[in-house]
Amino acid sequence: MGRFSAPIDDHPREECGVFGIHAPGKDAARLTFFALHALQHRGQEAAGIATSDNGIANIHKGQGLVSSVFNEDNLSTLTGDLAIGHTRYSTTGGSGLRNAQPQVIETIDGPLGLAHNGNLVNAPQLRRELLERGIGLQTSSDTEVMVHILAGAGGDWLSRIKVLMSRAEGAFALTILTRDAVYGVRDPWGLRPLVIGEIDGGHVLVSETCAFSTIGAKLVREVEPGEIVKLSADGVRVEQGAVPRKRAFCTFEQIYFSRPDSIHGGNLVHSTRQRLGRELARESPVEADLVVPVPDSGTPHAVGFAQESGIPYTEGLIKNRYVGRTFIEPTQRLRDAGVAMKFNPLADNLVGRRVVMVDDSIVRGTTSGPLVSMLREAGATEVHVRVACPAITDPCYMGVDMASREDLIAGNRSVDEIRQHIGADSLAFLSIDALMRALETDEGYCNACFTGDYPFDSERFVQLRLSPKEQFAQVWGD
Ligand code: SF4
Repeated sequence: MGRFSAPIDDHPREECGVFGIHAPGKDAARLTFFALHALQHRGQEAAGIATSDNGIANIHKGQGLVSSVFNEDNLSTLTGDLAIGHTRYSTTGGSGLRNAQPQVIETIDGPLGLAHNGNLVNAPQLRRELLERGIGLQTSSDTEVMVHILAGAGGDWLSRIKVLMSRAEGAFALTILTRDAVYGVRDPWGLRPLVIGEIDGGHVLVSETCAFSTIGAKLVREVEPGEIVKLSADGVRVEQGAVPRKRAFCTFEQIYFSRPDSIHGGNLVHSTRQRLGRELARESPVEADLVVPVPDSGTPHAVGFAQESGIPYTEGLIKNRYVGRTFIEPTQRLRDAGVAMKFNPLADNLVGRRVVMVDDSIVRGTTSGPLVSMLREAGATEVHVRVACPAITDPCYMGVDMASREDLIAGNRSVDEIRQHIGADSLAFLSIDALMRALETDEGYCNACFTGDYPFDSERFVQLRLSPKEQFAQVWGD
């Protein structure tokens, strides 16, 4: 059995959501549950919560959506005022329950739990080192590798986390649970987001600020690259755990991953996406009658395009939001139906019109062609496609599921070849310069999937060119 969202959803797959809380006198697990609800968009395969209560760890996790994993009965067993939580989309390690997070073990210093968003590019080497030291591994995820590095390093937890940060290469935003504290850790490049919030008498750490309004917290600040944040009875303590590198925040958080009501770098994501659409309209104008978004993620970009171009915005496609949220295998007929299962055209809005279809991104190119055909069949006389990010030409090795150039429609095709492939009258992607103008900066972002310029300048770079499977084979000689 498997999910069938892949062929009919052409986006980078979400990463993961992490959360941590110290809330004296409060039901930390319940607050974590609601925060995970707000982070559901970052991963729908599995969810989990671990708490620490006077040195005893409690954990519940399962496959599926947050609302199906937790209920009053299992939440009531998660006692304590320290908790971490996770929503999972598997970029490495497979989607089985054994890879669900948080991962919790017992150590000589009490419980240790870890929730991870990201991907270690040197995980195969680290796995091998652990196995050679006689440490058995139960899962195929790099999260377990980090758990054992933390457990095996000497000293207090802050020292152990520094050891982990000195060994781990890649993207990692972590929340860590111990007997008497929750820690937040952000990799030295700041690839994945992590912010600190304040909640009545306590503090939280979370991937995105959209969780704050759900649980009644307010933003304190972002965790800076390389920082360790400790939440405990002593309040908040921040230490630099690793020397910060050239900041490389994942641009796709702004373009697609993060919820529109989250704030990154002081800017509301929704507003940033409208600016992307405005830049796109300025850079690649077209004569047309209507601007139509690919819902829902392309909507703010399309609104920006319409505002800048003066072309009226209207809905032309209706999305079934529940496709891809089932574990029931589709029949072959439904599989063949492809995007028709997910989108329906609004013919009355389209007949006889020249349409600009605005999408946030094109990854594999699996939906753009069928959507262009759908708009034409519904009566559009011309379909011009505008994409609010640059063409994705290079794989991502930092925790986003785009690990192979062959999977990317722009990996080996020109823009005009892609236009022909999807059957559009015209096609344009946003330029890198316009992207950075919309982000109101010219630095601080990873744009490697658009440029091939990766944030890592090390011997790992050669391995970064390999798929995770190839990396593993290189280490294990198979
Ligand atoms: S390569 Fe692309 S998806 Fe991956 S971290 Fe960089 S910007 Fe994000």
